[in-house]
Amino acid sequence: AIPLPSALYAPERRNSAGLDLSDENTLRHLADAFLKQAPASADTQGERITNPADTNDIVGHIRFLSSEETDTAIARADTAFEDWSRKTADQRALLLERAADALEAETASLMALIIREAGKTLANAVAEIREAVDFLRYYAVRIREQGTQTRPLGPVACISPWNFPLAIFLGQVSAALAAGNTVLAKPAEETPLIALEAVRLLHEAGIPKHVIQLVPGDGRAGAQLVGDTRITAVLFTGSTDVARLIQKQLAGRLNSDGTPVPFIAETGGQNALIVDSSALTEQVVADVLASAFDSAGQRCSALRLLCLQEDSADRVLTMLKGAMQELRTGTPERPDTDVGPVITAEARDMMQAHVDALASQGHRVFQTDLAPEAASGTFFPPTLIEIGSVSDLKKEVFGPVLHVLRYKREAVSDVMKAINATGYALTFGIHSRIDETIETLKKQSYAGNVYINRNLVGAVVGVQPFGGHGLSGTGPKAGGPLYLRRLLSRKAPMEAA
Ligand code: GLU
Repeated sequence: AIPLPSALYAPERRNSAGLDLSDENTLRHLADAFLKQAPASADTQGERITNPADTNDIVGHIRFLSSEETDTAIARADTAFEDWSRKTADQRALLLERAADALEAETASLMALIIREAGKTLANAVAEIREAVDFLRYYAVRIREQGTQTRPLGPVACISPWNFPLAIFLGQVSAALAAGNTVLAKPAEETPLIALEAVRLLHEAGIPKHVIQLVPGDGRAGAQLVGDTRITAVLFTGSTDVARLIQKQLAGRLNSDGTPVPFIAETGGQNALIVDSSALTEQVVADVLASAFDSAGQRCSALRLLCLQEDSADRVLTMLKGAMQELRTGTPERPDTDVGPVITAEARDMMQAHVDALASQGHRVFQTDLAPEAASGTFFPPTLIEIGSVSDLKKEVFGPVLHVLRYKREAVSDVMKAINATGYALTFGIHSRIDETIETLKKQSYAGNVYINRNLVGAVVGVQPFGGHGLSGTGPKAGGPLYLRRLLSRKAPMEAA
């Protein structure tokens, strides 16, 4: 028999089990924890962080570091590298695993903060903590495998987004730490408080203070880190535009050994799903709801373009619109809410402008209703717009806005080509019960993660390494066996026989 690739199937580690939200006791326990939740930070100074679901609710304050303070932090990371890089892989892995246990133990209070700061639903908050825990344990296992033939790089900058303020934050940080680098972590300016909690847990687990330091700030703090010659690698998740800026800035300098600065970027997508007329309509509808509207569409993996073979388009759209009307868009901590707020008023207004522009060009728009309480936050209703061609998609719209395109059966390759021609290549889906169609499209797609007869979101660490190509990112994939390689250099010693 052919042995299974051990990286995928060895029972070296289990993914986090999460919580069962259908269990009443669990919900009661959570409600209790939410009520008891202390203010996220005692600081009353600095930037004010508000709850996107209720903009009168102040979650806390955070002081942005001055450029002198950031400079000092980099110097400390540089000094701390000496000791940290000399620890064995196993010593570092154990500390990350201890942090993972602490995260699981504090699930309820972390959920409360994620919901309040980032507007996540209960289910999304559970998933977020599970993914964060998985990253910590996954990179711990992977670094042990690397053995002694590796050398870390130095201080690394991690610049992370607000849409997974714990999972992606800790994904980047845990990989850099596992590899033996010290870390300056700049969280998104919208969600620094959950990052602060994460760093507290890492410190309490025994990772020295200067080995992982938080650098709260806006784009200027990120630019300062990227431009500093003591920073030896940059990990970034966010927009394609910002990735370009970082790449340009990095092009202006080299690491002290004269090598280019390693840069991992995970960026956006114009993710499409092709549905032919053989597909099972009920399954298509369930998967479209999850792909386009879960997390209020604020995932880089989220579905933006639904391509329906015209023979069955009306049938799918009728059922889809009906199902969309059943989605509850409102207060995220309510167990019956499906869609929470979008992150800021600015984001909401951009989505509205996008929808208005397409509507004024004559495209048909279908929009659902908001729950009554949504008036106090920045919500955007799940929206569907029919477009005439893939080229009507311009910029990535990062929210619950789904574009629909009808295609003729014989034109399916042209649609696939047009999707590839957007330059984005993150996720792609196929719904069909015809093997040949699946095989052909799977081969033709440029996307990094291709999903067949299922939804397009929620890649599982260690099982579905996640990341794209082209405008969607540089690779290597997060939660996959190659990620750590970019964060260390390998030696290949060879002795004469
Ligand atoms: N890994 C997430 C997923 O598979 C998306 C990450 C992101 O939005 O950056 O849905």
